[in-house]
Amino acid sequence: LPAIATVIGSGTMGPGIAATLVRAGAQVRVYDISAEARARAESSFAFASTVLDQLDSAKTEGGSVSFTSDIAEALSGSLFVIEAVPEQIELKKKVLAQIEGLVADDVIIATNTSGIPITAMAESMTVPARFVGMHWSNPPHLIPMIEVIPGESTDQAVTDQLVEIVKAFGYHPVLEKEIAGFVENRVLYAILRECVALLEEGIVTAEGLDTCVKWGIGYKLSVIGPTRLLDMAGMDIYAAVSGYLNKELDASTETPKVITDMIAAGKLGFKSEGGMYEYGPGEVDAKRRDIVAGLVAARKTLSSIA
Ligand code: NAD
Repeated sequence: LPAIATVIGSGTMGPGIAATLVRAGAQVRVYDISAEARARAESSFAFASTVLDQLDSAKTEGGSVSFTSDIAEALSGSLFVIEAVPEQIELKKKVLAQIEGLVADDVIIATNTSGIPITAMAESMTVPARFVGMHWSNPPHLIPMIEVIPGESTDQAVTDQLVEIVKAFGYHPVLEKEIAGFVENRVLYAILRECVALLEEGIVTAEGLDTCVKWGIGYKLSVIGPTRLLDMAGMDIYAAVSGYLNKELDASTETPKVITDMIAAGKLGFKSEGGMYEYGPGEVDAKRRDIVAGLVAARKTLSSIA
């Protein structure tokens, strides 16, 4: 693991990323342009660290964190940089130019983009060979899987090094070719498209859908994985079912009306205390706590059998 690492941008993702690296023994510097975001990041970092304690995940001594308003200070001596600023290509290009101006040519720069093509982002870089996609899954301190996505100009040695870095802090790297949305979100959005269509057609209630997917699919897939599931079911069975079912599945290419209607009505989910479900006072916080507790318990169990 690089001894000194920098996280640029500390909103939803940055603090958990930093906490994970610190736990693995890195000296992590966190930079954010906003003073308010930096203050919030310090408490999110502390919370993520307590979650890592609950996980009993391996801890390497020597880790430390500092939050700074000075990007030069954040990057001074850094050996590995993770960019986690908002998902806007022009902003990311600007920030990458700033980073490149402050680190040596052999420092790896990784981006946590959710889907902007790595090749497009690298276009205006001076040393695009050291640039690579590193897609963490939210919450980053809890989901131990990272997609590694080289762009057209990424050096193979850089990709290999990132795979080793991810292993060094105990996560599972998944090497992918560049594709819109990357693999995790493509699979997730295929599931969500069908889920929203089933709700829209009134086939099942939100509660029913959640129960079906959590216990019928999520529980099973968290142990087996889709390709092993195909082996378990048998290709003949998959062919028989997909032969009549695939053409029935939702294939719409636009955002579903039920979702755009909810946005128009101000129903955004947790952030507006109402979405698919309604939340009374304090209920969103309670739900968030339940989710973290559930993820901690499930990860402990799954790690013990994987
Ligand atoms: P966010 O908006 O919560 O946080 C981004 C932070 O970057 C903010 O605190 C903002 O102040 C800061 N920032 C803005 N301009 C900056 C600049 N010029 N220099 C330094 N900091 C700057 O965003 P997020 O959800 O943490 O996402 C960050 C990246 O991670 C995005 O590319 C996003 O697509 C990706 N990502 C997000 C998730 C998720 O679930 N939120 C999951 C995986 C990947």
